[in-house]
Amino acid sequence: MDLFERCRAFYADPHYAQGLGWPANPRTLEAVGLYPYFIPIERPEGTEAVIQGRRVLMLGSNNYLGLTTHPEVQEAAQTAIRRYGTGCTGSRFLNGTLELHERLEERLARFVGKQRALVFPTGFQTNTGTLAALLGKGDMVVADKEVHASLIDGIRIAHERGTESAFFRHGQVAHLERILRNAPAEQAKLVVVDGVFSMGGDVAPLPEIAAACRRHGARLFVDDAHGLGVLGGGRGTAAQLACTEAVDVIMGTFSKSLASAGGFIAGSREVIHFVQHFARPFMFSASLPPANAATVLACLDVIEREPERVARVNRLADRLREGLRAQGWDVGHSSAAIVPVVIGDQFRTVQAWKALFGAGVYTNAALPPAVPAVRSLLRASCIATHTDAHVERARAAFAALREKVLLRSTQREEVPCST
Ligand code: PMP
Repeated sequence: MDLFERCRAFYADPHYAQGLGWPANPRTLEAVGLYPYFIPIERPEGTEAVIQGRRVLMLGSNNYLGLTTHPEVQEAAQTAIRRYGTGCTGSRFLNGTLELHERLEERLARFVGKQRALVFPTGFQTNTGTLAALLGKGDMVVADKEVHASLIDGIRIAHERGTESAFFRHGQVAHLERILRNAPAEQAKLVVVDGVFSMGGDVAPLPEIAAACRRHGARLFVDDAHGLGVLGGGRGTAAQLACTEAVDVIMGTFSKSLASAGGFIAGSREVIHFVQHFARPFMFSASLPPANAATVLACLDVIEREPERVARVNRLADRLREGLRAQGWDVGHSSAAIVPVVIGDQFRTVQAWKALFGAGVYTNAALPPAVPAVRSLLRASCIATHTDAHVERARAAFAALREKVLLRSTQREEVPCST
């Protein structure tokens, strides 16, 4: 068989995609306006955007503090381009280390309360690279079942090289503890969790997890992509839960509150020194472009100077969450800036996404493999620069959607099988 036969089938066969976990062929969904992905944004303006010629309310962004459009942040990026150029054209090992990177690493380490930090070109690479570097043959990694895909991939790489891996039920410290207790005491162990889970928006019980780690001699790695800038006065989930000391490695991304792209880890000087010499995505990839690094430094200035931004995004998200919960939606155990609205069925989720989009509200449809098939959801998130009126508009749109969903709950619209 030709290797590309599966690509042809996925493109043209109306049923093939279902076998791969899609609700239907993406092109079929697109033809009936039910494909919620790869929609080009003509003008991303922060809290609103122009898409397909229409102005919509943006509830599908990780720009939690609204800093992508902040004049001081934009100016810092432009100045960095003028001073350092548009790209580094090399790995950090070689010609890709600027004093700007070192300044950023020092600042990030101080910001999250660790000795040292290391910056990577993306958050995804930060996770795969760090886990694969730290974990060796015969070690054990234990992760929450709902950790981000980049951590899963890092665990897979380590697993292929002989690291034992196990997953504990989402948020259940007792299950984690059982796994740790059953492992040999002398085995080196790493526990991996998200600070704020990217789909459910719930916060990991870090103090309890850290205590379990201590009891069993395990190290703790926390991916705080969605906690950074939002919890703990912006310093993240560990700061919020007063357990920074007990977390060995804090990971963060620049692609959310920090208005850029890239990622970092922070920890002890020995750990950072080791990772910088063994993390392949760090070693064999060009370093973070100057504009990205300068953007993050400027964002940290704004966060430290304007703590009210951090408070506001939490307040807005709480208001949206409470409003939707009162309407009867399942918003799970979310907190922070993420408001997941669990629809359940995949089809109904894309239908709900389309109805909201039609009503001028852009959300993210989360389908498998991002979530379990029966927990498909619409992911809404707030931005500190949303107005109160924006939140009211969102609540009204969800209220109208609820009427539709309830009216339709006995009938399921069939999507035609061919384009
Ligand atoms: N970790 C989590 C929890 C994430 O949500 C994401 C991105 N959505 C990443 C890591 C990867 O980060 P990046 O987008 O910077 O590659």
